[in-house]
Amino acid sequence: MTTRPLVESPAALHPAVAALPVSGDEVVVGGVPLTRLAARVGSTPFFAYDRQRVTDRVGEVRAALDGAVRLGYAVKANPMPAVVQHLAGLVDALDVASTREMHTALDTGTDPRHVSFAGPGKTPDEIRSAVAAGVLIELESETEARRVVAAGDELGVVPRVAVRVNPDFAVRGSGMRMSGGPQQFGVDAEQVPDLLGYLVATGVDMNGFHVFAGSQNLDAELIAHAQRATAELVVALADHLPGPVRYVNLGGGLGIPYFPKDRPVDLGRVGESLATVVGELIAPALPDADVHIELGRYLVGEAGCYVTRVIDRKVSRGRTYLVVDGGMHHQLAASGNLGQVIRRNYPVLVGNHMASPDMEQVTVVGCLCTPLDVLADGVQLPRAEPGDLVVVLQAGAYGLTASPTAFLGHPAPAEVLV
Ligand SMILES: *Cc1c(COP(=O)(O)O)cnc(C)c1O
Repeated sequence: MTTRPLVESPAALHPAVAALPVSGDEVVVGGVPLTRLAARVGSTPFFAYDRQRVTDRVGEVRAALDGAVRLGYAVKANPMPAVVQHLAGLVDALDVASTREMHTALDTGTDPRHVSFAGPGKTPDEIRSAVAAGVLIELESETEARRVVAAGDELGVVPRVAVRVNPDFAVRGSGMRMSGGPQQFGVDAEQVPDLLGYLVATGVDMNGFHVFAGSQNLDAELIAHAQRATAELVVALADHLPGPVRYVNLGGGLGIPYFPKDRPVDLGRVGESLATVVGELIAPALPDADVHIELGRYLVGEAGCYVTRVIDRKVSRGRTYLVVDGGMHHQLAASGNLGQVIRRNYPVLVGNHMASPDMEQVTVVGCLCTPLDVLADGVQLPRAEPGDLVVVLQAGAYGLTASPTAFLGHPAPAEVLV
């Protein structure tokens, strides 16, 4: 088994492609050559998540954090129950953003004390479930705070809460910004002291603070800067609480490389900076605080691929199209329609022709009757025919569950953890 595809193509230059093991002509996923895996799954398209790669990634993060910080998994990145179960055994906490995700998290056997529930627009019923479950509720507004208190009174349970803060600074470099300025997320920092007064008066179990700056950040310096500013803000807010702060969640948002110019995050730098922030700022001021970061995409994104089969190959006025049996209804992000301004290609490969020297330029399209359904535009790939397997990489996070699966009414894909 070699660790490098033999073909020279723009895609082959992508570190995600170079990182994949190859056996003969086939890419190997979870230790299984791709055509064998496709036969085992029994139908295409499907998502495959590589268990070992998830384990390895958590190990890398743990090594970089060096015990200074607890590690949570943000379930929304990939809520497949087997994936969440696997991660539950590797991380310290699970972060959920809906009742269904909360059930998935609790089904793993994770102690509710190590489950947190964030997200705007929690309904009164969701809040009631969360209070009954005993998970940590990350309050996104004053209305939520009142509903949590009411649910606690009704159920005779002391709710466990933290306040999600919308800081008075923005973090640059996030693909998706979720803090600073006006936001639907969190409570504006300047309003937090009043809210704390209310929470303390009601007797809820106020644990601490949560700040999540944004997703898909590849710049370790900007991440480090955000974490320092967040820690300073939390230390200042803690002055408004009579009791000790026991929970500080600094967010995460570490990105993965999707496009050829993307460079992986310097994890060592993030770890060093976190250790400094905890050692110099948080530990002296808030000695009882457990400091957390929570990662979604970074833990699972690179461990997953989306496997499709070529159904048709056609040449239209000089352009070659591979029409596959999957598409944007399963992997919206690769089509460029999930928050990309200018469409760029995710890394793709022909998973059963990894050693073929016969290259050509093709456009890979899905089976939906819309011009939006493009999986890769003008890429160099080994020549593929109907029956061959086209694989979209970096599909382990925000893939299936972030896609419009009902669009055009095709069947749902399988998902396997290998
Ligand atoms: C989405 C989300 C995450 C995970 O973000 P990633 O970029 O996938 O790591 C973490 N925390 C909260 C509150 C979120 O909403």
